[in-house]
Amino acid sequence: MDGVINADRTRTVVVVGAGPVGCLAAISLAKMGWNVDIYEARPDLRLPSSKAAAQQRSINLAISSRGIAALQAVDAAATSRFLQTVIPMRGRMIHDILGNQHSQQYDKDGQCINSIDRALLNEGLLEEASAVPNIRLFFKHKVLSIDFDDRTMIIRDINSETDVRAAFHLCIGADGSYSIIRRQLMRVVRMDFQQEYIPHEYIELKMPAGHDEHGQPGFLLDPNHLHIWPRHSFMLIALPNKDKSFTCTLFAPTIEFDRLISPEAILSWFRSCFPDALALIGEEKLLNDFAKNPRSPLISIKVKPYHYKDRCVILGDAAHSMVPFYGQGLNCGLEDVRVLRALLLQEGVAPNSLSPDLGEKELTDTRLSNALTKYTETRHEDLVAICELAMDNYVEMRYSVTRPLYLLKKALDNV
Ligand code: FAD
Repeated sequence: MDGVINADRTRTVVVVGAGPVGCLAAISLAKMGWNVDIYEARPDLRLPSSKAAAQQRSINLAISSRGIAALQAVDAAATSRFLQTVIPMRGRMIHDILGNQHSQQYDKDGQCINSIDRALLNEGLLEEASAVPNIRLFFKHKVLSIDFDDRTMIIRDINSETDVRAAFHLCIGADGSYSIIRRQLMRVVRMDFQQEYIPHEYIELKMPAGHDEHGQPGFLLDPNHLHIWPRHSFMLIALPNKDKSFTCTLFAPTIEFDRLISPEAILSWFRSCFPDALALIGEEKLLNDFAKNPRSPLISIKVKPYHYKDRCVILGDAAHSMVPFYGQGLNCGLEDVRVLRALLLQEGVAPNSLSPDLGEKELTDTRLSNALTKYTETRHEDLVAICELAMDNYVEMRYSVTRPLYLLKKALDNV
């Protein structure tokens, strides 16, 4: 193994994962004065060769005031730029089996959620991080293991196929649902861990743009709604994109998907369950997407604690994967960064506040350790609650929204 790659950098925070949460965490800590190194297993998302692979994951997502507040707390200027690219969704549009559409506004005062391009948000945050002088980005560097007591980690440089050792003062694990940092933490803390795969999966389908009366690209459905085709045990949803297309996601039990084994089976199922959506997507495109796009599982993960002493904390999906039905997974991950930042500031933690003896690896900085302890203590209840709300909202979206009592209550709420 080669030498320690950042032994000369004192007060270094290592962020593992350059997803949206890792990038925001890096920017936040760098602005507080830390040297930050980000290690990301994948190639740089901004390279043209990476774009197709990146789009395997959901193409757009809903960002709410929770996520926007977090972005603003760290980088207000970048947030304004991101907000110019969103499409506000002011309510749900329920599509019944006969093709009728029923609008349910989210809020009578106009509050809304916003459809944002996932790749654009991640690329924008990478751009912001790249522009900060005390952040270094290492792509195709996969973290393999950590020695928390030695404050070092082993990283595989995928280009050269060599392993390197990197030193850190604080490690932020923002490495997603299958987090290696979480697994490494489990070896040193008494972590409660709960993981659940729900018996449903999802696949993404694209509804192309249509044409307006001037022959220009136009939306085939109202762009200011999140569209839902609730069908009790399964559902289709659609979120608008800037290019006037919609990204549709079909959520259904695995046994339902397993029946869709031939083009005829897929088309006949869509004709009976989603005839209006099928007309808009087009039969050929639907079959093409079914053949090309992966069927992906849905996982929910809860853990406690999120930290170890003064040297590691996990954020985002690494700490709390949730099913996507409340549209809050990323919003909560960004909020993690805002909450952590507030606690670090509250405890007066800054690189120059650390004890000069901290080079001694076994020493623990009390302020940093207090901030991380408070993070676990104050954050856990909220995160468990939102994971559970996300699970409950699946029933609401695929079933309850169609029930007469629900519709009556919604109508009265809007009076
Ligand atoms: P990720 O985006 O998973 O990033 C983790 C990064 O870590 C990756 O780049 C990965 O390559 C890297 N990494 C992993 N292991 C290593 C390693 N060993 N070494 C180095 N790097 C590593 N959320 C919302 O708020 N609103 C929505 O509308 C919404 N819709 C969704 C729809 C679907 C279908 C799904 C599945 C999720 C949705 N989510 C939504 C949730 C959202 O996608 C996640 O919460 C969010 O992407 C988590 O971001 P993250 O940065 O924590 O993790």
